[in-house]
Amino acid sequence: MLDIYLGSLFYLIGEFVIFLALIVLILSVIATFMILYSFKTGHFFAARLMLIGISTLENAIKSIFWIARADDAIVDDVGIRLGNYINKKKFARISRGERFIFMPQCVRSPECPAKLTPEGIRCIACGRCRVGEAKKTAEGLGYKFFIVPGSSFIKRIIKKYKPRAIIGVGCPMEIKQGLAMCHSYDIPAMGVPLSQAGCVATTLDWDVLYDTLSDKP
Ligand code: SF4
Repeated sequence: MLDIYLGSLFYLIGEFVIFLALIVLILSVIATFMILYSFKTGHFFAARLMLIGISTLENAIKSIFWIARADDAIVDDVGIRLGNYINKKKFARISRGERFIFMPQCVRSPECPAKLTPEGIRCIACGRCRVGEAKKTAEGLGYKFFIVPGSSFIKRIIKKYKPRAIIGVGCPMEIKQGLAMCHSYDIPAMGVPLSQAGCVATTLDWDVLYDTLSDKP
């Protein structure tokens, strides 16, 4: 008798697992099409729902991209743009004097003479890279500007100064983690991805950074 009950139980569990896998597959395929649509058109449909879908089904969606031999960096790109799209209105309502910008240290010139301090690297605008110019523009608009060697610096600065809005520059992975962290602090954040990631002399689309600084659409 027990064998029959156990057999039925395993059968039910098996059916449930297959059903769940099917649901995940269907949702992932739908999300994949929505991501491709957003990537091509720049428009977002059901943005919040889509962002939840990308966050929860990221691995399954990237597997579909991999099977289709498509570049799965598109998933990260659309995920960041979605986050920015959702945060944009709240971000724009915060005065620039209460906004912080965090730049990664890798975007500096390899010959950067700036010194590391407890609040990040102090750029002296030596002209060897474009960070000095960006700092001047950002501070001219009222932003507090930080160049940080890691996320522990960001957490410490956030806890100390309590910014009300943040712009973060970094590789897609750092931006995704940063957006999630800011969300947990209820701080609207905008991500500007590096156009060429790496460990040294990375770069970004500076126009995108300046547009974000000045709330351009
Ligand atoms: S401009 Fe600033 S960040 Fe760039 S190399 Fe000079 S001191 Fe370093």
